Amino acid sequence: RAKKMGRARFEVFDKSLHLEVLSRLELEHDLRLALKQDEIDVHYQPIVDLRSGKLSGFEALARWHHPLRGLVPPDEFIPIAEETGLITPISKFILARACDDIVKWQKDFPEIGPLTISVNLSTKQFLEGNLIEQVRHVLGESGLPAERLKLEITESLLMEELDMVKLVLGQLRSMNVKLMLDDFGTGYSSLSYLHRFPLNTVKIDASFVRNMHLAEENLAIVRAIKMLAIALNMEVVAEGIETLEQVRQLRALKCEYGQGYYFSKPKSGREIEVLLNQSPGWNSTFERN
Ligand code: C2E
Ligand code: MG
Ligand code: MG
Ligand code: MG
Repeated sequence: RAKKMGRARFEVFDKSLHLEVLSRLELEHDLRLALKQDEIDVHYQPIVDLRSGKLSGFEALARWHHPLRGLVPPDEFIPIAEETGLITPISKFILARACDDIVKWQKDFPEIGPLTISVNLSTKQFLEGNLIEQVRHVLGESGLPAERLKLEITESLLMEELDMVKLVLGQLRSMNVKLMLDDFGTGYSSLSYLHRFPLNTVKIDASFVRNMHLAEENLAIVRAIKMLAIALNMEVVAEGIETLEQVRQLRALKCEYGQGYYFSKPKSGREIEVLLNQSPGWNSTFERN
């Protein structure tokens, strides 16, 4: 009897594993067609200058609208794209689209000051692709000034082949492109390596911001990251801001920039145009209670 049950359980397990593999293969297959079929899109989340309340720029976030599954989150399809090599054409597309969009918006809304665009780089893309050429090409095609492009990298990249990473980051910096360290504090970070790389900005991970008002440790961590940034001559962006209280605390800590649902969720290009049309600013909300 035990044997029978064991076997039944094994079959159930086997079936779900089978489904998982199948669904993964399906996703892989569909992702190959996604670009051609116009299913990959870029959404934009405002980044706000916490000192003035003014819009500072946007972060470009990839979206895949699957014809049957609906929206597949980037956390799900970017890893598949990396493993299959599809990350190269997809990233190229996202970088180009983001630069084109920002240039277009600046032309259409000249009264809004210069805006920056942050684009996420995957580690694979960084290590394998001809990134420098790609960036140079996209800047040339779009006409975006290099200093308004910000590339977001993660801590894991800094742990990779050091010399190569340093070389490429140095080249990007000499082109005047800005470099941001994303999700700071979540990786196997060692504070000691930060100064070895030519970074302009650290993005404080949402997990610290989220519980700042609840746990004294989180507030202490945010404060410490800000102090480190000052010492290394870097600016900070706080991610995942959802409440006015967090805004106030971050302003008190002199964090330069903020991003999160409190200001705006990521929006489609069309929705961003509506936002820009209303001359966005958040200064008045800082005073509210
Ligand atoms: P990330 O770069 O750290 O992006 C921030 C994520 O936090 C986004 O999730 C954004 O929608 C979400 N977020 C922003 N504000 C809030 C908030 O107030 N509350 C909460 N709960 N969430 C907030 P998203 O768009 O799902 O992207 C997830 C991750 O996928 C990104 O994390 C990034 O690592 C990766 N990713 C997205 N687009 C790309 C891309 O074009 N290329 C690469 N390589 N990775 C990308
Ligand atoms: Mg990011
Ligand atoms: Mg982040
Ligand atoms: Mg993140």
